[in-house]
Amino acid sequence: MALIVHKYGGTSVGSPERIKNVAKRVAKARAEGHDIVVVVSAMSGETNRLVALAHEMQEHPDPRELDVVLATGEQVTIGLLAMALKDIGVDAKSYTGWQAALKTNTAHTKARIESIDDQRMRADLDAGKVVIVAGFQGISSEGNISTLGRGGSDTSAVALAAALKADECQIYTDVDGVYTTDPRVVPEARRMDTVTFEEMIELASLGSKVLQIRSVEFAGKYKVRLRVLSSLQDGGNGTLITFEEDENMERAAVTGIAFDKNQARINVRGVPDKPGVAYQILGAVADANIEVDMIIQNVGSEGTTDFSFTVPRGDYRQTIEILTKLQDSIGAAAIDGDDTVCKVSAVGLGMRSHVGVAAKIFRTLAEEGINIQMISTSEIKVSVLIDEKYMELATRVLHKAFDLG
Ligand code: ASP
Ligand code: MG
Repeated sequence: MALIVHKYGGTSVGSPERIKNVAKRVAKARAEGHDIVVVVSAMSGETNRLVALAHEMQEHPDPRELDVVLATGEQVTIGLLAMALKDIGVDAKSYTGWQAALKTNTAHTKARIESIDDQRMRADLDAGKVVIVAGFQGISSEGNISTLGRGGSDTSAVALAAALKADECQIYTDVDGVYTTDPRVVPEARRMDTVTFEEMIELASLGSKVLQIRSVEFAGKYKVRLRVLSSLQDGGNGTLITFEEDENMERAAVTGIAFDKNQARINVRGVPDKPGVAYQILGAVADANIEVDMIIQNVGSEGTTDFSFTVPRGDYRQTIEILTKLQDSIGAAAIDGDDTVCKVSAVGLGMRSHVGVAAKIFRTLAEEGINIQMISTSEIKVSVLIDEKYMELATRVLHKAFDLG
């Protein structure tokens, strides 16, 4: 008998019928003799609806009150699922974040989990009940309802699995695992049986939206056995996220291609080529809490240089405004940019031991006439910034070039 955490996302609990399906799935695992803790998201679309309502009240909704509103979505699904389970004869009990004693810091709308007291849940599990916990929410150190950031239910599930020392945390979603790339773009994409934490973190942060990145980091840190499975179809082992040391087979150079349209490029042209300029530019951007990703500074000629970087597309206008205000003090000749770019990345642990991966990527893109605007690399990834109109083509040809189909 094992203790297993199941997590069901918004689509999986998107209608009464689907909630009943989840209940059946949970009942089946229970009948196999396992202790089950279920974490659920709000019904699909619900959190967006609540965000929109809040914005009708205030342009910048008060963060504490926004969390009060956002947390209601998950409170509905835990209660409904508990009813659905009772209806088929399975004893179950719902827990909001505070009832589960999931304590967070006070950073409303993006709170971090600090501790979980599992006593109450344990007692219910020992009494044979299925424990159902609201994802995405907790209670702050000041006693207020907090939420963990969009997609936060994944993190709730992994944190509960860590606190309860669960044997496995199973994330049920609308895909049946982690794919070599998005199958909607490349029909030949393949489900991976396993993917390492390091690769998953890159894939998750690069726009492959299967898991919230924080949940993967959490699982890596606390050594939670994590699996992604389909909630819409039966059978299949999904994808197990493994630890590198458990992988004895040789890894391919590239295991997945990710893409991300949430990108914009900013150019600061003709700035003085002297110490402190990068700091002046990026310091101002960081002060506005805008995340900078790729950065390029060219070798200067005649004492000036061009400086380019990328930001999330939603921060494009604000970044241009901030820098335009600073243009004179920075001494820049011009500030412009492009918000029709995208990032395509090849990820693979095997890159550490294979040479020529970057060259192969560049050749593949060149053969299609795709211009690379920026490049960034890490030990296990190569990313290129390109015109967004080539996103799907680039993904397809790279997927093929590395034999991922
Ligand atoms: N309901 C929340 C959201 O839509 C949390 C989640 O689904 O994980 O972001
Ligand atoms: Mg999700």
